[in-house]
This record gives sequence, structure tokens and C-alpha cells, in this order.
Amino acid sequence: MAAHREKKSEERNHRSARNGAQAPQVQWGRAWEVDWFSLASILFLLAFAPLIVYYFIMSCDQYQCSLTDPLINLLMGNKHLSDIWSKTPSLTYTAAGIYTVWVAFQVILYVFVPDFCHKFLPGYVGGVQEGAVTPAGVVNKYEVNGLQAWIITHILWFANAYYFHYFSPTIIFDNWIPLLWCANILGYVVSTFAMIKGYFFPTNAKDCKFTGNFFYDYMMGIEFNPRIGKWFDFKLFFNGRPGIVAWTLINLSYAAKQQELYGHVTNSMILVNVLQGIYVLDYFWNEAWYLKTIDICHDHFGWYLGWGDCVWLPYLYTLQGLYLVYHPVQLCTANAIGILALGLVGYYIFRMTNHQKDLFRCTSGNCKIWGEKPDYIECSYMSVDGTKYYSKLLTSGFWGWARHFNYTGDLMGSLAYCLTCGFEHFLPYFYIIYMTILLTHRCIRDEHRCYSKFGKDWKRYTAAVPYQLIPGLF
Ligand code: NDP
Repeated sequence: MAAHREKKSEERNHRSARNGAQAPQVQWGRAWEVDWFSLASILFLLAFAPLIVYYFIMSCDQYQCSLTDPLINLLMGNKHLSDIWSKTPSLTYTAAGIYTVWVAFQVILYVFVPDFCHKFLPGYVGGVQEGAVTPAGVVNKYEVNGLQAWIITHILWFANAYYFHYFSPTIIFDNWIPLLWCANILGYVVSTFAMIKGYFFPTNAKDCKFTGNFFYDYMMGIEFNPRIGKWFDFKLFFNGRPGIVAWTLINLSYAAKQQELYGHVTNSMILVNVLQGIYVLDYFWNEAWYLKTIDICHDHFGWYLGWGDCVWLPYLYTLQGLYLVYHPVQLCTANAIGILALGLVGYYIFRMTNHQKDLFRCTSGNCKIWGEKPDYIECSYMSVDGTKYYSKLLTSGFWGWARHFNYTGDLMGSLAYCLTCGFEHFLPYFYIIYMTILLTHRCIRDEHRCYSKFGKDWKRYTAAVPYQLIPGLF
């Protein structure tokens, strides 16, 4: 519904040139040329990101989540790499079976079970929805049924935990490292397949980008929206499932492990489950809206999304729960309430900021933000076929405070997850550091993209809203 309204407003705005064509605007998709810094970052990530994930998970498995002990042991010569490696669980048939069933089940839910949630949940937008206009001017259709997949999966999980007992709810924790190998295999297979597909049988050749640099293309993707058949969209599937559906199950498995080991679940573990559960549910409730976010409407599908969604997200976004299995922190009531408040306020800012933009874009500015008609800056851009589109940049509400206040809310929530773990170890704080780097980098990428897309109109916007994340500071 929201997407439909936006399309209509885009169509209304889709008129002939009004304020002069801006030549660079047709370059607003992913980069065509690779600078040395991007290449160096990509080579670094390709080489080290899998090692970073392994190091974090191994340090919990063998060193009680201490990140320094393995290094100290190695540097002092007390241990060799081969000692650590020999203690690392290898791929097992059990893990391969679990993972295959898991991914196959999510594929079935995604492809073969059309959404019914939108038929009975008021306000929920699901079913067939349209994405944003791609640089080639294509508007893709998506079957938005992630909330349904999440609900069905969790009903089955709880039915098993409390009634059927086919498997232990600690199954994920108990197979965590063997499952890591399975996730890596899928991540590499899917990224490599996407690369080959981009060369030989792309879904939409006009939306492909070849920089000529193998590593960059492998990492950042060639195809914009690779699909198999009409509905299996790689980006929507891998972005949301299996990783994000798994996120809450992984946390539940950690809570079950705490119960098994210590006979109770700590309030910090409950906080992690609740706060991250809200974030995950928010994602699925707003899955149609996510079709308009940078991951879907800007990034091409390569290793960054394919491997990242299969490995990085489920393994590193759940570090707090994993840590709490090894260190069961019981927070005093005041700290627990403070962390809950920080998480909820962060979530509120994150959601309201995103909602304000969505409402504004869907109604083409004919709405109220904080009780008043919104202020905005009119802007225009062009797709590769030279068609000119008109759009608006909101400068009211949270969007008048900073250009990415939704990221600020996200960061507050991320900090709350980390704080549940106390201050004994660095490992749980990796998440807030990573999110700060990710979202600051996104600010830079988005600034670059929007400037390329809107040209001088974007300059007018940045003059009206000078701060990016924190009003008065940055
Ligand atoms: P935004 O939702 O902020 O989208 C940025 C786009 O919105 C711009 O490219 C531009 O696109 C449009 N826009 C920018 N300013 C305005 C304005 N003033 N008025 C109207 N439109 C504007 O960013 P993301 O897609 O990166 O993030 C979406 C959410 O997802 C965020 O809340 C973020 O915190 C979260 N996120 C979480 C991640 C995680 O790993 N947990 C990772 C990434 C994001 P255009 O004009 O072309 O439509």
C-alpha cells in the first residue's frame, strides 16, 4: 500500500525537465570506478572478515570470550596456531543436516507460502509490493512475507521446546562452530554464483555494473537485483532470511543454554532477547519499507551482502547472548531499568525517524509531522535512460535535527545491548564499535550517493540540515 502510494507520487512527479538537467545525476548507483582506498578496504575485508568471525567465536569457545588471551598465548609461545585449530570443532553431519533443513525451510516459506498476515493484521503491509526505481528505471515486485516466516518458525520452535521435544532448544549453541562452517559454505557459494550469474545470465543486464576489478566486483556485486524465476530475489531473501529470522532463535538458544548450565536465565539475557527481539520484529513488520533502504535500493548483490548475511550477521550480531552464556551477568534493578530505557528510547528514535520519512514520501509531503505541515526541499534526479524524476527532502521532525538521526537511534539501541554484559570484557562491545563504523561509513556513502543523485539540490539540503548524526556535534 505504502509502496503503491509512493509509486503514484513518483508518477505524478515524473514530468519533463524543470530546473535543468544535471549530467552527473545518471551516475547515482554503485560506483563505476574503484579508487585505491575502496580496493584496499575490500581486499582487507575479503582476507580478514572470515578470520575475525572465527577469532571471536573461537575465543568464546576456548578462552571464555577473552579476545586478548589467545593472542597473549600465541605471542608468549604457550600455544601454537595448530593447538587452537586442533581444538576447534570441525564440520559435522549433524550441523550440515541442521543447516540444510533450516535454509530449505526458509526457502519454502519465502517462495511457496504467499503472505496472509496482511489480511488480518491492521496496519501491516505485506504481500506483493513494489521496490524503488532502480538506476535503469526498473521497478521490481516483491512477495513480502517475512513476518509470516518469522511467526511460523517461532511457533514451531516453541512447540518443539515445550511440547514435541524433537530437539533441544540449545541445539544452535551446541553446534555453533560446526554451523559456522556451513554458513561460510553457503555464503561463498551464493556470492560466487551471483558473480557468475552477473556475467552469463543476469536478471536485468541494464542494472549490472562491471568495474573491471575482479575483487571489487566479487565483493560489491555485479547484478543489482539477481533473481531466480519471478520471485526468488537474492537480496530480499538473504538480507532477511535465513540470518534475521535466525537472530531471535539464536538468542533463545543462548537463553536455553543458560537455563541448562545455571538453572536460571539472567535479567541481562532477558534484556538482550527482548531488545534484539523488538529490533528483529520491527524489521519484519516493516519489511515492505526496507525495500526502499540502502541495502535493497542501492547495493548490488555480492560477497558483502551474500556472505555478510549468511555469516557476519548471525555470528557477530548475537555476540552479547553468546557472551552471557559464558558470563551470566545479573544486573542490579537500576542498571537493568537504565539499559532498558536506553534501548527503548533508541528504538523509538530509530522507528519514528524512519516513519517520518516514510510518511512524508508516501504522501508526497501532504502529512503532519509533530502536528505541523512539514518543511522540505524540492529536488530532481535522472535515471540512466534520461528520464527525469522529482522528489522531496524532508527538513522537519527528526530530519530537521540531523540528516541521519535514524542511525543515532540505532546506535543507542546497539549500545544498550552491549551494556547488558557489564564491563569485564571487550568482546560484547564489538557490536557498538562495528555499528558506529558501519553507520558512519553509511553516512559518507549516502552523502556521496545523494550528491551524485540530486546535485545542487542536495547542497541546499545539507545547508538547511548541517549535522549528520548528533545535532551540534557531528
Ligand atoms: P535511510 O533510511 O536514512 O535512507 C537514506 C536515503 O533516504 C537516502 O539515500 C535518500 O534516498 C533518502 N533521504 C535522505 N534524506 C532524506 C530526507 N531528508 N527526506 C527524504 N528522504 C531522504 O538509510 P538506510 O537505508 O541506510 O537505513 C535504514 C535503516 O536501517 C536505518 O534506521 C538504519 O539505522 C538501519 N540499518 C541497520 C543496519 C544494521 O545492520 N542493523 C544496517 C543498515 C541500516 P532517496 O532520496 O534516493 O530515496
